[in-house]
Amino acid sequence: MTETLTDRRARLMGPNVPTFYRNPVHIVRGEGVWLWDKDGKRYLDCYNNVPHVGHCHPAVVKAIADQAAILNTHTRYHHDLVLDYIEALTARLGHDISQCIMTCTGSEANDIALRMAQAVTGKIGIIATDNTYHGNTTATSALSSRRPPIGGYPAHVRLVPAPDSLRSPDPDGSIFAGHIKAAIEDLNASGIGFSGMMLCPAFANEGIPSVAPGFFAKAEAVIREAGGLILCDEVQPGFGRMGSHFWGHEWLGLTPDVVTCGKPMANGHPAAAVLARPDVMAAFRNAFGYFNTFGGNPVSAAACLATLKVIDDEGLQENAAKTSAYVMDRLRALRHPLLAEVRGVGLFFGAEFVLDENNTPATAFVEDLVEVMVAKGFILNRIGRAGNTLKIRPPLPFGIEHADLLVDALTEALATTKVPA
Ligand code: PMP
Repeated sequence: MTETLTDRRARLMGPNVPTFYRNPVHIVRGEGVWLWDKDGKRYLDCYNNVPHVGHCHPAVVKAIADQAAILNTHTRYHHDLVLDYIEALTARLGHDISQCIMTCTGSEANDIALRMAQAVTGKIGIIATDNTYHGNTTATSALSSRRPPIGGYPAHVRLVPAPDSLRSPDPDGSIFAGHIKAAIEDLNASGIGFSGMMLCPAFANEGIPSVAPGFFAKAEAVIREAGGLILCDEVQPGFGRMGSHFWGHEWLGLTPDVVTCGKPMANGHPAAAVLARPDVMAAFRNAFGYFNTFGGNPVSAAACLATLKVIDDEGLQENAAKTSAYVMDRLRALRHPLLAEVRGVGLFFGAEFVLDENNTPATAFVEDLVEVMVAKGFILNRIGRAGNTLKIRPPLPFGIEHADLLVDALTEALATTKVPA
């Protein structure tokens, strides 16, 4: 009997690289916001943020291929492209953030950011939310609440309740700031001390709760008062996805000390970065030292530059803003007995489904809904503490016509997906 791809994958990759969906999709080609599987079935990509400017964008493909044909090296030699890129990227940041370490993944970038906060403050206590993800290294995975580390969370980690606009509305962020204040006091009382807070300014992995600009102002004051750094994980919101702003922190209205980015940065080529003020960079250098063989190599730099150029040339941030407003209008018009809250900012959308007035998560229903949508040719998924929020986060070229296809299909899927008795 021939081995299925699922079995072959499990045999060769073990259990650590699970696929999405009951019947994993086998994608073989992509273009723009479209994907095709091995049988030629077409899917609308309503989920992937890595192919930021569209799958296989010809300008990025060409930049990678051209540079790969000329030179690729490790990063100990002079090369113009990486400098051109850092100049272009830091020009988009305020707050005296003018220097950059290039890495290959968001996890590495966040790992560095955590150590920068340690280097500046001489303390190690760190705060994140209790429903987040900042990476897969030992240090960053200790901030991820999905699976506590063996032996429990390290003593220097404090996870504060993530914003949850449905269950505990906190319009001015005072409840959130209170949790942060208590965590800082606890870190100080235990002698560990406080180095900073890492947060995604869109709270993307938290399930995109509905928070408004200014939400973090009280928390920011508390963190500053305690001498901590604000480490903004822009891996998801950065590069125009917010529509109204290039960065998530600009939209939320906060002043970061360190900004990290990754996923969308080179449209699929592995590139990431940590950006900071020169004083923070210098403190990090004194305390740790760092070298990254691949980060910012000439091919990565070419891919990053091309991606940034396409965002501008094709007005993709503006497209995100336009499409966002349209999708929100259409999602808000959906009617379903289990639909409790529709939320979104830029090209991030969440639709949370619950079973009753106690907001019991309708997890199985959303699981089924996702399967129905995938069968109809729409790639999306679930998010939130209980996986009961539909997660929509398409590539930036996603337009009005794609939004119509998506919401029309969702309307049909909602009508046919069985509601639990
Ligand atoms: N930060 C956030 C907010 C993320 O969503 C992710 C990846 N999902 C990471 C960091 C880690 O990035 P990478 O997978 O490139 O290490």
